[in-house]
Amino acid sequence: MSRICILGGGFGGLYTALELSRQPWPEPPQITLVDRQERFVFAPLLYELLTGEMEDWEVAPRFQNLLSPESVQFVQGSVTAIDPKARRVTLGEGQSLDYDGLVLALGGETPLDRVPGAAEYAFPFRTLADAQRLRTHLKHLEAREPAQPIRLAIAGAGASGVELACKLADRLGSRGQIRLIELGSHILSGFAESSRGAAQQALQERGIQVELRTQVLRIEAVDEKRKNDLALHVRRIDSEAMASDPVDAVLWTVGTQMSGVIRALDLPKTEQGRLQVFPTLQIPSFPTVFALGDVAAVVDADGQSVPATAQAAFQQASYCAWNLWAALTQERPLLPFRYWSLGEMLSLGVDTAVLSALGGFTLTGPLGYLARRAAYLVRMPTLEHQLKVGWNWISRPLWEGLLPR
Ligand SMILES: Cc1cc2nc3c(=O)[nH]c(=O)nc-3n(C[C@H](O)[C@H](O)[C@H](O)COP(=O)(O)OP(=O)(O)OC[C@H]3O[C@@H](n4cnc5c(N)ncnc54)[C@H](O)[C@@H]3O)c2cc1C
Repeated sequence: MSRICILGGGFGGLYTALELSRQPWPEPPQITLVDRQERFVFAPLLYELLTGEMEDWEVAPRFQNLLSPESVQFVQGSVTAIDPKARRVTLGEGQSLDYDGLVLALGGETPLDRVPGAAEYAFPFRTLADAQRLRTHLKHLEAREPAQPIRLAIAGAGASGVELACKLADRLGSRGQIRLIELGSHILSGFAESSRGAAQQALQERGIQVELRTQVLRIEAVDEKRKNDLALHVRRIDSEAMASDPVDAVLWTVGTQMSGVIRALDLPKTEQGRLQVFPTLQIPSFPTVFALGDVAAVVDADGQSVPATAQAAFQQASYCAWNLWAALTQERPLLPFRYWSLGEMLSLGVDTAVLSALGGFTLTGPLGYLARRAAYLVRMPTLEHQLKVGWNWISRPLWEGLLPR
């Protein structure tokens, strides 16, 4: 019986596991999915946890509720080392797993070591724990008496920074004073003009202060005992002027780095530390080791560089599962990955979003919001979870309307 290890249960790993279990195996393999968390996180919907538009179980279902143990075994543990020559994976708990086929899908991490004070005081926004910690902090700030303005600074005006700014502005209402700080000369670098225009309007309508060509220098606690009493030091690139302002929280959305376990791997990598793979997603010299998602630098069959997005990882998962099956069974040829960009979506506050699809088609406002929700619902893992979430989206407004206020 073949043993398959999938490391990381995000968009790349979880969807590969689900697809692998559906392949026509001559003899069912032993498929093991390893993740340090007990829940899968549908990251594009993480913002909705800050506004109460969605519940934790919808955005982050437990692996155990998504996988049937007869086809995929879930192991909660931290991967600490991978030895491709010995075909062995080591977990933090001292456990080791031997494999015949391996999938590397450990995703990226938010680097907090780029400016002094970020690791101590800034909030990253990538995991369920990050969203829960920020939500608790916001509750604490909102409960202050007498009610004071809540001053937030968000570093990075990419998709995460813009989406966070709009959602938080809607949550905090007139108490929110939000700054969006960006080193580059425009927001949403790499996004379509239509998405950028809609985002600019959403930021303006919410009174969010956008500071372009501005570098965060450091974050300091004004009073060591009160970690929400911070000073944010910035530099304006054009004028070289320095500024230091009090803030209640800094949110850090800048950059992605590879985890230590990927950094330690002696395999070909790009300058950014991503693993180089063939278009079949195989690692050079190791035909039964595959990588996908944020850890992999993929140039597809048409020669285009594939972005590090959920959309790409989701598409790669089907190829990864097929190719691993083909490599282990030798029944069919492996297929080179082809990426289809289906457009882009951004949430721009509560009940509003922008969707820019191929051919210049754009939907904004509540229609964009409904289209985004529908697109994400069909991409959620397992039909059972889709039905539970879909039913909750229909029934929740009904029962909330019936409850006394
Ligand atoms: C807030 C946010 C919003 C986003 N919005 C969008 C969007 O709208 N559209 C889009 O296309 N993309 C979006 N992205 C990007 C997208 O989420 C990623 O590109 C995608 O998740 C990459 O998939 P992956 O499988 O490579 O990694 P991930 O989905 O990050 O999964 C990696 C998994 O590995 C696990 N892991 C990591 N290290 C270890 C270890 N040492 N041991 C065990 N387990 C480990 C993690 O717990 C995690 O479950 C967003 C990202 C964030 C953070």
